[in-house]
Amino acid sequence: MLDWWSQVDKSMLKPINTRCANDAASNKLENGRLVCEMNDIFASDPKILQAMGNNPSGGGYFNISAYVTYVKNDDKVFYLACPEDNCRRKVVDNDGMIDATGKYRCEHCNRNYETCVPTFMLLAKIADFSDSVYVNFYRQQAELIMGGVTAEKIKELKEQGESAQVNDAFCDAQFKPFTFTVKATARSFQDETRLNFSCTKIIPHSFTAENK
Ligand SMILES: [Zn+2]
Repeated sequence: MLDWWSQVDKSMLKPINTRCANDAASNKLENGRLVCEMNDIFASDPKILQAMGNNPSGGGYFNISAYVTYVKNDDKVFYLACPEDNCRRKVVDNDGMIDATGKYRCEHCNRNYETCVPTFMLLAKIADFSDSVYVNFYRQQAELIMGGVTAEKIKELKEQGESAQVNDAFCDAQFKPFTFTVKATARSFQDETRLNFSCTKIIPHSFTAENK
């Protein structure tokens, strides 16, 4: 962490520091925040989400310019999704089931399919100079932080036992800047409210565009 940070040209990052004020004027990056600001808001009171209203124009969404500093690589980086475009829920493998008419079963569609779509669900750490936070990335957003490497490709490499190539793909995803739209949601579990962050939109970060 310290290593890569020492290599970053800090003058490049200065615009982030003043971004909120600038954007309030230019309206370029609505609700732009530092990671520490987002964390501080929720650290003060996790119940604040309900008060803020969990909608796109409300406080539950934050635009953050940050680096991906780590992408978790385990056996849950992708799931097998229903091939229906407006479903994409998890399917179960019918392998060995008697009377199965297709290889994969989607409970939501209540039907079987011959194919499924390997789909990313990644947990990544993003950081700006102020702080870091773990964020979930799904589907296209996940592919973007993986530099275009698809979940299908990762599945293929894992099946071929190419763990070095898989590791390389996850390492290559690190230390790249993006502007993320992060959605904060509160999950209640046994009297405890836990925050969950997921990325809903992502654009390659452009320092020059932000400077204009
Ligand atoms: Zn389905």
